[in-house]
Order: sequence, then C-alpha cells, then structure tokens
Amino acid sequence: MSMIPHANGSADDTTGADLRSWVEGADGSGFCIQHLPYGVFTKADRSPRVGVAIGDAILDLAAVAAAGGFADAVPDAQALFATDRLNPFMAAGPSVWQATRARVSRLLRAGAPDAHRAAAEALIPRSETTMRMPFEVADYVDFFSSLDHASNAGRLLRPGAATLSPNWRHLPVGYHGRAGTVVPSGTPVIRPHGQRRPPGAEAPVCGPSRRLDVELEVGFVIGPPSTLGGPVPIEHVGEHIFGIALVNDWSARDIQGWESQPLGPFLGKSFATSVSVWVTPLAALEPFRVPGPVQEPPVLDYLRTDHPWGLDLCLEIGLRSPGMVAGGAPHDVISRTGFAGMYWTMAQQLAHATVNGASVRTGDLFASGTVSGPVRGSEGCLLELTRAGREPLPLSDGSTRAFLEDGDEVVLRGSCGGNGRPHLELGEVHGKVMAR
Ligand code: MN
Repeated sequence: MSMIPHANGSADDTTGADLRSWVEGADGSGFCIQHLPYGVFTKADRSPRVGVAIGDAILDLAAVAAAGGFADAVPDAQALFATDRLNPFMAAGPSVWQATRARVSRLLRAGAPDAHRAAAEALIPRSETTMRMPFEVADYVDFFSSLDHASNAGRLLRPGAATLSPNWRHLPVGYHGRAGTVVPSGTPVIRPHGQRRPPGAEAPVCGPSRRLDVELEVGFVIGPPSTLGGPVPIEHVGEHIFGIALVNDWSARDIQGWESQPLGPFLGKSFATSVSVWVTPLAALEPFRVPGPVQEPPVLDYLRTDHPWGLDLCLEIGLRSPGMVAGGAPHDVISRTGFAGMYWTMAQQLAHATVNGASVRTGDLFASGTVSGPVRGSEGCLLELTRAGREPLPLSDGSTRAFLEDGDEVVLRGSCGGNGRPHLELGEVHGKVMAR
C-alpha cells in the first residue's frame, strides 16, 4: 500500500497512463511524465542543483524555485534544490516529496499553457549538463536477497555443501559495505589489487584481481532518519524510503574468496560500487508494485506485511569489449532478469536492518544483492553466468569472457511498463574497467 497518498484521476495523480507532457520527445521515452526521477547536475554557468529528468531535458528545480514556481506548496524550496545533493530534499519526507512531484507534474503536463511558460525557462537539454553523485551516501548495506543467486553462489563456491545457509529463509542476509567508495554512473573502475590464493597454491600473492565481476542490483535510499534504539516497524518503512536506483556492486571474486573466511566481504567489494545518477521516487513506482513471493517457512512477525513491496522491474546487463567499443558496436546483452521474484523485499530489508535498534540516516543506501533468475541467461553476475569461469561467454566480436578484462564497458539497465501502464526506464549504470 502506498505511504504517499494520491487519488487516481485527481490533479495530484502523477502516474496515470494517459498523462502527456508538452516537452518534445518525453512521451514514449523512459523519462516520461509518469517517471520524473531526481538527480543533481551542473551546467557551465550554474552551480550544482537538483533537477528532474523529462525526455532529453532536465527541469532545473532551483530555477523553478527562484521563479516562485513552487509558491507555498514546497516551503524552503530554494534550500532544498539549490544544493549539490538530494539529502535535504530526501530528509524533508513524504509530504514534501508528494507536493514537489505534484507541482512538477503539473508544470510539465500537456494542456497547461501557463505552467508551460513558467517551466520552459527552467528546462535545459541534458546534453548541456554534467551529472553528479545524486546524494551523499551515509551508510551502505548490501543484501543477498535473490533465492536463485544465493542458491547458485552456494553451489559454485561451496560444492557439496548445503546451497542455502540455515538462516537464509528466516532473515535477509546482508553486510555493511563502504559508503565512501560509492560512485556515480560513468566513473571508471580501476582494477582492484589485493591478496588472492591461486588455485592449488600454498601461499597467497598480491596483485591485480583476475576475477573481476559485476553484480546487477537495485538499491533504495533513505529519506527521514529513524531513532536510535528502536526499530522501523515494517508498516512504517514507506515513511523512510525515498526511491530506488540501479547499483553495480563490482566484486573481485578471487580477493573475496580468499579473505571472506570467516567474516564477510571486505576488500573484494570495497574498491567501488556504482549507482545511477537518477533516483526514481517510490511514487513513480506505484503502478509496478507487486506482492513479494510466498515465503516458506513463514517469517517472524516483524518481517510480515500484506502490502505489495515487490517491484515488477525488468533488468539487464550489457557488456562491450574494447574491440566492440573500437568498432562502434552496441553492448551485448549478457543477462536479462526480473526483480519481482526477489525473495526479500525492501520493506523486509529495512525492518530487519533496524530490528536491533540501529538507526538509519538520510542518504543510507541499501542494495538488494545480485538479482538472478531461475533460467540460464538470467543470472546477475559473471560468476553465475560463466559457472565460476568454467563456461566463458561468447561475445559478438568473437572474443569470450569468463570475467571482466581491462577496457570492458558494462551497463546495467532497468525498466517497467506495459499492460496499459506507463513505460519507465531507470537511470542506467555505466562503468569502464581500467588497469591501475
Ligand atoms: Mn552485492
């Protein structure tokens, strides 16, 4: 159920499939008027500020605020939008998010000539802008919430042992990652160096990772903080979750495999985590909410909710070798998967992450864990796609990939829509692997 109330068909409905924008090219694009994701951008003559993507343009919310475009609907709009991070806006909470989104939707909607004129001056072609990290990451947590990923990883990393640990169906397993190395889409990823023990060797060596991998994930980001010492009950998580963004949790499998005994991921993942420069607000995802999967055995009460916290998203990984880049070829799609079947939902993840009394802060990023499906070609990382490197993937330039090579370009994409619903495309996550 929505924590952001809206009435279908009313002026405040921002997701109706029949809404149209006057902005050229917006209708039918992934950044249609039903989407309205938030980001932070700069332009030659402007300091960083908050914007909303629409078609191939950005609506400069600081300019809208300066022109009085939010009037009384959004108090302190200048302070929220004439800044280099989404954190103040995210901290303001659901009523401010709703008022802002309703106002932006009205400004960009076809059939409102006055609004059109007011907004046109604040509209900038995206080609003239540079995107920044959209929010300052407070803490970063990564889960392990795909049943297929957890099962595949168990089989590949611990052959012969039980594929799932005994706790897996009772709680969303996760670890605390490194907030300071979360980078925006487009940031090059420098191949990590570290300790690994080559197969069959007695002693470890230190050097560049030879098993660099991607992890296709969906993250959510926290708006208003919670109070230290108490949990966020599962029925209240919607008051804290601002929106979602695609995440690439780059992983060095050889470093990870050697160091994660007996504790969890450390240097094998902390070198870089890429996030989209566009954050899709929860309100835009209302038409795509679905119930989470049936959980067996039943979960404890604090993890139980009847509200549909699953998201019906289609996800994919694209890979481009240096040869394909040189030849101008597009990415090969090496994985296609869905997010709706994730065993643990973001509501359960947030309820669990705070059940011990740990508080959350504005800007906390929680990622889903690798999203894998049940069939070949739907796995969300190379470890699974190539069976730990034993079955390299053929690429369209004739080369093969067991793990990433220097010069490889990876893109993560996500979309939702169809069946009479609007079509949204999440902000992509790009990254190119570079030698140190
Ligand atoms: Mn991960």
